[in-house]
Order: sequence, then C-alpha cells, then structure tokens
Amino acid sequence: MKNYIYLDNAATTKASSQAIAALNRYSDAMYYNPSASYAPALEVKRALSEASQTLASLLGASKEEIIFTSCATESNNYAFECGIKNKKGNVVVSATEHASVYESALRLKNKGFEVRFVAPNSDGTITPQNILPYIDSNTAFVSVIHCSNETGAVNDISAISSTVKKISPKAVIHSDGVQAFCKIPVNVSKLGVDLYSVSAHKVGGLKGVGALYVKKGFNMQPFIVGGGQQNNRRSGTENVCGIIGFAESAKACRKKAENFNGKFFRDIFIETLKGNADFIVNGNKENSGYILSLSFRGLRGEIISHLMEDRGVLIGLGSACSTHIRTNRVLDAMGVEKAYSNGSVRISFSPDNTEQEIRYAANALKEAVCELNEKMKG
Ligand code: PLP
Repeated sequence: MKNYIYLDNAATTKASSQAIAALNRYSDAMYYNPSASYAPALEVKRALSEASQTLASLLGASKEEIIFTSCATESNNYAFECGIKNKKGNVVVSATEHASVYESALRLKNKGFEVRFVAPNSDGTITPQNILPYIDSNTAFVSVIHCSNETGAVNDISAISSTVKKISPKAVIHSDGVQAFCKIPVNVSKLGVDLYSVSAHKVGGLKGVGALYVKKGFNMQPFIVGGGQQNNRRSGTENVCGIIGFAESAKACRKKAENFNGKFFRDIFIETLKGNADFIVNGNKENSGYILSLSFRGLRGEIISHLMEDRGVLIGLGSACSTHIRTNRVLDAMGVEKAYSNGSVRISFSPDNTEQEIRYAANALKEAVCELNEKMKG
C-alpha cells in the first residue's frame, strides 16, 4: 500500500492507539456481555459506565445523559424520530445539515410535519437572525449543525437556542456536533441544547459507534427496542470495545486539539494557491481549523482529487456519505456559483499532520490545478 498523506479527516480518522487497545482488550480477554451477572461481566459493565462518564465530562454533561448508538447517523435519526414532544408543531432545520439530518427532516415532511429549511449566509453560517423568521410559538423542534462537515463553518448554537426558546420555550433544540466534538470547546449546557449527536470515528475511535446526549428530564422514548439495555433507552448489546475506545480516543483528541492550530495549515494552502488559481474559500475566518473547503472556477472536484491522489495526497470532495451525488446541496444553499461549486474539494486536517506534509500537499494542489487549467486552455 502506497504511503499517502491523508487530508480527509472529516470523513474519518485513523483509529487511535487507545481505540485499538480497547478493541483488543474487550474482544479478547474481557469479551463478556455487560448484561451478564458474573464478576468479569460486571467489570465490563463498570468499564462501560466509566466510558459514559468520560464522554459526559467532555460534553459538560452527566453520564446518565449519554445514550450510545451505532453511529451519528443513528443519533440524528433518533433525535428526529423520538425528539418531538406530542408529535405536534413545526420543525426548523438549517439547509446546511449533514445528509443524516436532512433526510430525517424530509422523512418528517413526508409524514405530514411542516418542515422549514433555513438558508445560510454566504459563508455557510446560520445565525439567530437567519433562524428568527422561521420560528413561532408553534415551533416544536429545531436542528442546527454545530460545525459544518462541508465547510467547517461554526454556528453559535448558544445564541440560536436562546433566540428560539424566547419565542417557543418548549421547542426542542438538537445539534449535530460530529465535527465540533473534541475539536472546538463543547459544553452542552452552555449551548442550551436538549439533544446533541457525536460520532467515534471522527475523533480517533472505531467506525460504528456514536452517542446522543439527551438532557436530564427530557422524556425520550426509545428508537430501538428489545432487551432493554442502556436503561431501556437503546436496546442491543453495547458495542463494548467501540464505546470504551470512543471515550479514550475522545479524551486524547480533545487534548491534541488544545495545541493544534489548524488555521496555520489552512493559511499555507490559501497562500500557496493565491495568484496561481481562480478559487474561493467557502467559510470565514472563525471557521474550524480542521476543515478547508475550496472551490476552483471551471474545474471538477473529482478530477482535482484524482490528480492529488496521483501525487500521493488524499482529499475529500464534500461529505463522504454523499460523494455519489453530483450537486453539493450545502454549497448550493450558500449561493456558490455552479462554475465554482463543481470544482470543490474539502481538505480536512488532523493534529498529527506535519507542516512538511501540508506544504507538500498545498504545492501538489497548486500543480494539479495549474495542470488542469492549462489543459482547459489547450
Ligand atoms: N454528521 C456529520 C456532521 C458528519 O460529518 C457525519 C459523517 O460524515 C455524520 C453526521 C454521520 O456520522 P456516522 O458516520 O457516525 O454515521
């Protein structure tokens, strides 16, 4: 296997040493079912409870407020399926959501709910001002992504939730925190959310594990029923190794984030390309330092990405889950001209990337784009 420079960390991350250690320990020496009553199983149960506590602390929550799921897609589906009290009222969702939120909202619409999609600003952000015209006293559920997986735009969820609650105090606030968790400071009570989704494999955990924060006192009915695990809130034998690895990886990811200056990496790309390509940066200066979304005029993102792969650098096109869809729903909603949006790539960093890798990759991108532009002229 070729040794690539990996710059698609918003799609998934390399499993951390902690995740691998948990995988080994809890599928081998400690493989017991945490619901069993013999001593080694109780030890596994205790380890699960500690993992809940670790994740809860990273979210500013208590461990009773954490429900583990199979992925953030499930967490988002769960929030939409079971988070609307009395199944009444209108639903307000930003137009910049990940497909798992967007499709959940469309499903509610098909069931007869009034769903209102909020257009973002041209930098991809959703502000209280954007949301305000869509909220009324009948608003039952609001979902706004914390950090965009497409552009890295960070939304002020705290300001949004307080704006919404002033007009509709009973509205449930959900936020998809997959790209924010452990990367920017997250405290669910400061954010004012009732529900918050996270995923393990974006923070060095294994694929197939997620969690949903459910605020204390919120009567959330189960989405998946069966053996009554997790206090009847989500049945199914817990993914023990995945959950324990998630908690340990999240802790390590948060620690690395404290010393990581992703904006430095972003600037290397932007400075290298300036004057050499006709491009726009989707986002703003307050963006997450982990994601850089660029659109090149007159080019195609897939071709740029292939040329980068030829040069040993892996980058993304946008949401990993929607690469088969030709148009980019989020960039379209932001009003990015087609001539640019067709040539979009998403570069997403890890604190483990080195400056040398980033300089190499930025030069490779400059070369790839210049080569394509020459071909277009010829
Ligand atoms: N939400 C966001 C913002 C994401 O970036 C992703 C993954 O790309 C998901 C949800 C889905 O996460 P999972 O792969 O755990 O289902």
